[in-house]
Parts: sequence; structure tokens; C-alpha cells
Amino acid sequence: MAANAVRTTAGPMFIVGDGTRTRGHDAQRWNIAAGKAVAEAVRTTLGPRGMDKLLVDSSGNVVITNDGVTLLEEMDVDHPAAKMLVDVARTQEDEVGDGTTTAAVFAGQLLARAEDLLEQDVHPTAIVEGYAAARDLALDAVDDVTTDGDVDDDRLRDVARSSMTGKGTGDVSADALADIVVSAVRRVTDDDGVHRDDVHVRTQVGASSGATSLVDGVVVSEEPLGHDAAVRVEDADVLVFDAKLEGRETEVDVAYDVTDVAQLDAAMDAQEAELRRLADAVADTGADVVFCTKAVDDRVAAALADRGVVVYEKVDGDDADAVRTATGARLSRDAFDVDADDLGRADEVRVERFGEDAATFVERADAPAVTVFARGGTEHVVAELERALGDAVDVVAAAAEGGVVPGAGYAELAAAAAVRDGAAGVHGRAQLAAEAFADALDVLPRTLAANAGMDPVDAMADLHAAVESGPAGVLLADDRGVLGDPVEAGVFDPAAVKREAVEAATEAATMIVRIDDVVAAE
Ligand code: ADP
Ligand code: MG
Repeated sequence: MAANAVRTTAGPMFIVGDGTRTRGHDAQRWNIAAGKAVAEAVRTTLGPRGMDKLLVDSSGNVVITNDGVTLLEEMDVDHPAAKMLVDVARTQEDEVGDGTTTAAVFAGQLLARAEDLLEQDVHPTAIVEGYAAARDLALDAVDDVTTDGDVDDDRLRDVARSSMTGKGTGDVSADALADIVVSAVRRVTDDDGVHRDDVHVRTQVGASSGATSLVDGVVVSEEPLGHDAAVRVEDADVLVFDAKLEGRETEVDVAYDVTDVAQLDAAMDAQEAELRRLADAVADTGADVVFCTKAVDDRVAAALADRGVVVYEKVDGDDADAVRTATGARLSRDAFDVDADDLGRADEVRVERFGEDAATFVERADAPAVTVFARGGTEHVVAELERALGDAVDVVAAAAEGGVVPGAGYAELAAAAAVRDGAAGVHGRAQLAAEAFADALDVLPRTLAANAGMDPVDAMADLHAAVESGPAGVLLADDRGVLGDPVEAGVFDPAAVKREAVEAATEAATMIVRIDDVVAAE
């Protein structure tokens, strides 16, 4: 029997067996249990003092992570309701790039409370109605605590730092990384907003994470043909070519009916001449560096090298696009029809070697694309750093566009208070569900407190009192949890992250509560 299981380091956690059909309350209970189990698995990773999880997948690969969505994706989740929770984290990651643990824990809490309500014979439709009303109240509350006006660089650095605290970022300081991330996002911001996709994150093992830097331009993993030594071209004209640089026919005996040696020589000569013309055409464009997405004939490469042109072949499509954006080159397909306008410009194209690997830096002072070049001592460190940086870029972009809210649990506390106030206006038994929604929101600051080693009951009592007079949350002092003002401490999250968490978690929980028939099929 292939049991459906959530596998964590604690061993398999069986949720539901195959070949069963469950209906009505039983189905709801199974689903809720499955969803809760998934949420529970990530609860201890929430916040700056969250624990890392070590996961081993079925092929034996080890992942160490503090990232909610990575954790959920790596877990072997195989139950429809549990999968929905994983989808909440994935949606959260795709939409805003952070808050995955928050969303999953919150969804799990909504399910746990729905279970209690079902026990009290509250009908699923009343739960759905109450949760929807509460969600709207919570979203309004998030808007209310969102800072007005433009978000300045200091505040963006706060957001970057908050998103990275507690994540494995090696020995580099969160301040240094926050600086890099904010500079990167500012570089790709114009009147149209933030061009998030023009911030690239590249990793390279072999140095400490303190060597992480911001590159004006792009870094591609390719290396040029025929160059073993260092390559460095200054003030480079760059051609990005999207067709083969080869003769029309590479097989001599296909093109010519070869009957004697003289004819063969003539055929070869004709082909040599053609390749020579092709190489000359490419060189005559004025390009110093050619990034070709297709194959380049050795003889063309050699002829270009003779004329001092650096050539790359079979360049990955994404890399070619990145080079185009960074240099302003247009894609060319015909070597005999390239204008000066089609060429891009780079201050420098440089190949650097890192042990076995090589990378090409295409830099320009005002390049519209930038790259965070992340370093780390091991694959684990760079992988975690890459995730943390990617998320930080996402949240800084979201904060620059949609504003920020005080973090450390304050946004959730404020939302819970607003929902509790507004619940009085919700009719019938749905009111119970709205109140339950507020309690579920409270679990986020409570979990932050618990993960920071505080007594969660005392902390919540103090927090409820403190938020009456202003922002309050769970902060860290000397690595221990203390209550304080997140605004003073500079702990902020993008408003979009909190909005998305509320929306995604409510949607998933209400969907799961509505299901009352489960057929487990092969
Ligand atoms: P998520 O996947 O939900 O982003 P995290 O583990 O990143 O989970 O924790 C996010 C929570 O931790 C947010 O509520 C955020 O405000 C809070 N947080 C981040 N940094 C700090 C900090 N330095 N002090 C207190 N809270 C913080
Ligand atoms: Mg986070």
C-alpha cells in the first residue's frame, strides 16, 4: 500500500490510506487533519529564531532550509487537502516571495478552528461566510497599518533585513546583504515601477558569503571558445546572434557528388571560402564579443579569433536575453544584415575562473539589468543564500510598490483586533467563525513568541494590552525574545505579503472545509 504521507525528519506521518472513500464529517476531519499536519511541520521555522529543518528527499539529497515554501515543496506531501496547503505556500512565494510560513501556519489554524466549529455543529457554509467577512475586515486593518507615501531606502533595508533574519546566509552581515538588495532594486526602478525580472541572482561557491557583491550588468555561466586564459574586453560592442554560425552544409558528401580528389578539394575550398565570408561578415559588424545561441563552426571561431573577436556558442536562451537587456543589443539572425543599432554596448566583458567553473561578467555602469553575485563556502550555503536573496529582492520590490507594515507580529495583532471588533456585525453562527478567525491570526505572534523562547500565554496577554496604545510585537534582544515596538526596531514587512497571506490562507481553508467527499484513487 502506498500510503499518503508527509515525511519529515521526525519520520513518516501518515495522513490517509489509499483505496478509501470518506464522506461528510469524516471527510472533513481527514482533510482538516491533513492540512493541520502540514502547517504544524513548518510552525517551528517561523520568525527570526525559527529552527532550520533538515530534509532528505527520496533520492537522498539533503536540503537545509528555513524557508517555508522550500520546506513544503521538499516534503513528500500526497493528500489532496495537504497539497492545497502546499499550494498556499507556493502561491505566496510566486505572488510576493515571502510570508510562506505565515500563510501556511495561518491556514492550518483556520482549519483547526473550523474543526472545532464543526464539532459544535456550525454548518460549513456558516464557517465559510464568517471567514470571508473576517478576511475583509483583516485586509482593511492591514491597509490601516500600511505606511503612507514613498518608502525610503532605510525602510527598504529594514524590510530586506527582516525577510533575511533567521535564514541561513552564511557569515555575511544582514546589513551588507540588505544594502546590496536595495541598491539592486533601485537600479531597476523607473517611472513604470520596479522591473523585478531585471534583478538576477547568481551563485558561485568557493569564497565566503562576505564576498557577495552587486554587479552592474549580468553574469552568465558560459565561457568563450578557444580561450583558456583570462579574457577581458573593454568598451565592447556586443552582438547577440540567434542562428548557427556554420556552413550551409556541414557534410561535404551530401552537398557534392564527389567522384575524384580534385572535386573533393574544390568542394572543400568552396566551403572554406563560405565559412571565411561568414566570419568576415560577423567581424565586419564591428562586434568585439559575439554571444551565439546556436553552434559555431570551429573554423568560423578560429577566423574570428584571428580578427580579435571573442565568441561564445550555444549560449542559454535566458542568458542571451539577460545579455541583450544589459547591453541594449538586439537579436540578430543574419550575419550579412547587422546594423550598428543591433549591437549592444558593455564597459567590460570579462571571464573569471573559479576553480573548475568560469563565469562571464558583462558590465555597464548604467545597465538596466543587475546581478547579485552570491558567494558561499559550500553548495548548501549558496543555495540557501540564493533563496534568501531572491526572497529579499521580491519583498523589497513589493515594499517599494505597495508600502510596508510593522512586522514582528504587529500586523496580525492589529488585524485580529479589527476582526474581533467587526465580528459583532456578522450575523448568526458565522459570527463564531469570524471570532475564530481572529484567534487564528493571534497564533502568528504567539508562535513568534514561542519560537523566541518566551512564554506564549504571558506574551499574548502583554501584547494585547500593548497594542491598545501603538505598534507592539516580538523582538529579539541578545538573541532572546522581548516585547517591543517593531517600528523603533526597524522590523517591517511588505503590506502585500500580509495581504496575500490572509487571502491565500482563507481561500485554501474555506475550500477544504467545503469538501465533504473524498475518494482516494490510485
Ligand atoms: P515567513 O515565511 O512567513 O516570512 P519567517 O520565518 O520569515 O516566515 O518569519 C516572518 C516573521 O518574522 C514576520 O512576522 C516578520 O515580521 C518577523 N521578523 C522578521 N525579522 C524580525 C526581527 N528581527 N524581529 C522580530 N520579528 C522579525
Ligand atoms: Mg520570511
